[in-house]
Amino acid sequence: MPRSAVFYGDQQCVLEGMTDLEAIKTELTRKIEEDYGLNSMHVVQIDGEFEKVDARSEAPYVSQHITLKTILGETQKAFVFENIRGSLVGVYFPDYMDGIQMPGWHLHFHSEDRTKWGHVFDACLRKGTARIDKSTRIEIELPKDAAFDTYSLKQD
Ligand SMILES: [Zn+2]
Repeated sequence: MPRSAVFYGDQQCVLEGMTDLEAIKTELTRKIEEDYGLNSMHVVQIDGEFEKVDARSEAPYVSQHITLKTILGETQKAFVFENIRGSLVGVYFPDYMDGIQMPGWHLHFHSEDRTKWGHVFDACLRKGTARIDKSTRIEIELPKDAAFDTYSLKQD
């Protein structure tokens, strides 16, 4: 894990009876807005008991000149986990970073036993503890591969 990714969990709160992912995101946003405002990046980990988690994992792939849409169509696996203990982990990027990162929250799930994981589309949280850290540093490393310079990247 890179040095910049050390997680302290400075802010903590208990989340209860969150019926969907939007409710969880709204509550996390309310929390960081209250404590810090919305101009910084934040990382979060929510450990708890989930009634349901709707997730997708992407299999590793090797490809050139292929769109993300094509990759997802061919390799994604959708999962619905029910009554599962685990963690939502994710990042928050402010709106003005649109273009470099997806603004808002981006959350992944892993089960407590670390056997299941994926990008989260929806989650129903019975009860959990959220730990949030403010992050003030972002590193961007572009691919060194010469093929990278041949991609058409004017659009997302
Ligand atoms: Zn993801």
